[in-house]
Amino acid sequence: MTTLISTHDIACIVAERGLPEVLRRLVDCLEEDFGRWEEFEKVARVASHSPTGVIELMPVADAVDYSFKYVNGHPRNTALGLPTVMAFGVLADVATGIPRVLSELTLTTALRTAATSVMAAKRLARPGARSMALVGNGAQSEFQALAFHHLLGITTLRLFDTDAAATAKLQRHLRGVPGLRLVACADAAEALRGADIVTTITADKRNATIVTPEMVEPGMHFNAVGGDCPGKTELHPGVLQAARVFVEYEPQSRIEGDVQQMPADFPVTELWRVLAGRSPGRTGPAEVTVFDSVGFALEDFSALRLVAELARAAGLGEEIDLIPALGDPKDLYAALAGARPRQLRAA
Ligand code: NAD
Repeated sequence: MTTLISTHDIACIVAERGLPEVLRRLVDCLEEDFGRWEEFEKVARVASHSPTGVIELMPVADAVDYSFKYVNGHPRNTALGLPTVMAFGVLADVATGIPRVLSELTLTTALRTAATSVMAAKRLARPGARSMALVGNGAQSEFQALAFHHLLGITTLRLFDTDAAATAKLQRHLRGVPGLRLVACADAAEALRGADIVTTITADKRNATIVTPEMVEPGMHFNAVGGDCPGKTELHPGVLQAARVFVEYEPQSRIEGDVQQMPADFPVTELWRVLAGRSPGRTGPAEVTVFDSVGFALEDFSALRLVAELARAAGLGEEIDLIPALGDPKDLYAALAGARPRQLRAA
């Protein structure tokens, strides 16, 4: 049997354990898996582009587990009443191919993206960072805000979105969080002023310029999350030029990240190298760092194994017969027996 984990199951897990603990556990899983990077079979995700968006498949495996995520990115969806990003995924057994878990990954992607951002910022932001600009206040933004508040000690958030209603929604959700100050700003330049960390998480299928070189201050860390597709970027090339740039999986980031704007030999560092102690993270208080996040399959692998564990512990998830149970594994035809056309059964 396969365990189906629904969005309601994920919401129950977060309600029971609390968001900070779930995010903390996710960071632990991510650090564990990025720490054994070389054990994974990796590939850049397979993307299918259309004029309105992209649909992607993201596989990864180690010797024991295989996972993939289906995810879309359609920035104009919100005007149709649909989310920009929707996802589900599978965790399977390498030894037999059995799909053990089929899970929602829309909520889980928001959680794992925020946890990955924190994992990077722990190593790349200035120690003692307290203020963060958050540009793009849509579906992902609360998760980023709360992850940085609870796990990294951010106490001031400087908010901007071209859609004032999105910022109002974010303020409504965060207003009661103790120790978190919210400052709504008139534009991105105002939001960035004096911020230790800058998270850009906008959705627009074009080479947008959310951050220009004049907005960069010494020591800033950029958590650039929204530029994650060919032709969809957020940072002016001059911002990258003036910074040390970190990526998840270089072959994928060169195609999809903000670094797609740079020459092929523009230096980037894969984040796992910092976790493994093979490359330095931040090297000084004035250095400008960029985590050019696009979302890599290993992050979903980590998230899938954690939500499977948490659902099992909470008695959540539904057993479904995604794969037929056969008395004789060579007799697949027998699985058709016993079922009748539904109109006959009704009669
Ligand atoms: P969303 O559509 O819910 O929110 C995006 C927000 O960006 C909207 O409120 C929109 O008004 C705002 N925006 C657009 N252009 C802007 C601009 N120039 N300045 C300020 N705000 C602007 O989308 P979401 O689910 O929050 O996702 C945000 C982005 O993050 C998407 O591009 C998505 O593809 C990306 N994403 C990346 C990862 C990753 O791992 N790197 C994971 C999930 C989502």
